[in-house]
Amino acid sequence: MMHSSMCRVQRGSFVYYTCRRLPVRHAFTTKSGGVSTGACESLNLGFNRGDTEQNVRENYRRLAEELNVDGARFTLTRQIHEAEVSVVRESEAGMGLTRPMAWQSDAIVTALPDTPLIGFYADCVVTLLYDPATHAAGVCHAGWRGMAAGILPKTAHVMAEKLGAHRDSLIAVLGPSIRQECFETDADVPQAMERQLGAQVQPFIAEKGAKFHVDLQGIGAKLLRDAGLSPENVIDSGICTMCHADTFWSHRATHGVRGVQGAVICL
Ligand SMILES: [Zn+2]
Repeated sequence: MMHSSMCRVQRGSFVYYTCRRLPVRHAFTTKSGGVSTGACESLNLGFNRGDTEQNVRENYRRLAEELNVDGARFTLTRQIHEAEVSVVRESEAGMGLTRPMAWQSDAIVTALPDTPLIGFYADCVVTLLYDPATHAAGVCHAGWRGMAAGILPKTAHVMAEKLGAHRDSLIAVLGPSIRQECFETDADVPQAMERQLGAQVQPFIAEKGAKFHVDLQGIGAKLLRDAGLSPENVIDSGICTMCHADTFWSHRATHGVRGVQGAVICL
């Protein structure tokens, strides 16, 4: 069920989700609001989905206009399912869109104003982070590999160590993503998670016949609380991309033929 702090926003054909707990410009985008066609119809934000570059750039322009952010400063994650976290400084603003991509970071964080950070999802868990005490922001992409590698608490850690963010005021919102009831796996996924995170993940793994169902959001929220975030500041959006494949691209529901959504945050 959708968390009570989440809101669906619609302006014309543009549809996205926000969280009332984040008092900065931000959005979890949906399929709607862009110009792309075919499998990427319509707000595809990925340059590697078979879409035309012109369409993707127009989608970014529309997103910037909708959120009232500087479209030339969108700074992108590069999602390779690992646990690298990079700090975005002035020389990196715009990386991936107006500057060549120079990192392999599934998570990026910043204290720079007017610098929208964006991570991508189509089932994976993308988390927006914000510390109202020190005005630091972050975005973290985690599929099961990144979650097992601890990228989510690592992002909070980098925000604290490099940007001075306070763990006790840091807010994290886990965005729309595939949830336990839909996320069916073989034994390799729970085994890898247990190998890297230990027995603490067991309550988040259900066995159904020969298959497993893993609660990635539950694991992510626990790891953030254990990293020092207040339980009330760790918000699971509760939205399943596969159950809502009419609204969101779900990697599983589309068998990979799809565009990609973005989670954006901007100080
Ligand atoms: Zn579902």
